[in-house]
Amino acid sequence: MPEKEIKAKNADCTGAGGKYILNRILYTLIQLTWGILQNAAGVLALLVMTLTDPRRKHAYYHGALVTHWKFPFSMGLGMFIFYGHAEQEAEYAAAVLVHEYGHTIQSCILGPLFLPVIGIPSCVWAFTPVFVKWRKEGRYDYLQFYPEAWANHEGERVLKMPAPRRRVADGQ
Ligand SMILES: [Zn+2]
Repeated sequence: MPEKEIKAKNADCTGAGGKYILNRILYTLIQLTWGILQNAAGVLALLVMTLTDPRRKHAYYHGALVTHWKFPFSMGLGMFIFYGHAEQEAEYAAAVLVHEYGHTIQSCILGPLFLPVIGIPSCVWAFTPVFVKWRKEGRYDYLQFYPEAWANHEGERVLKMPAPRRRVADGQ
């Protein structure tokens, strides 16, 4: 998908009409009730990020708030996305956002189970040295693990945009 088209699609918050707006309201309501645990964690992370750099870039993305950071990975926590892929090739960067949005949908589906079922296993998978080593050896791709494969599925299902097929570099 060309960069211009990706930007247009990402910026399209009103073009889809009433149903789109209703879905965004429902999304926010579910996040702030059923998904309050991970959203509280997301607000805390947002606070820390804003205090450490008040000029940090933020963007609205289909009901979620995307905050840019310098870490070489991205993370979806409740309705908050922390995004480290902005500098990468446009199509891949856009696909990673679709993936992270998928994690925000998992938050709506799982509510209080999000952290034990998705958040914690996903962090263990991303940062445990033995798993990093396995991925470097090419035995597994980052996106094969169920929280990641499922995030891709949910992001694509809701946004109708492609999620990444594989991670271009490990730990991202
Ligand atoms: Zn993920």
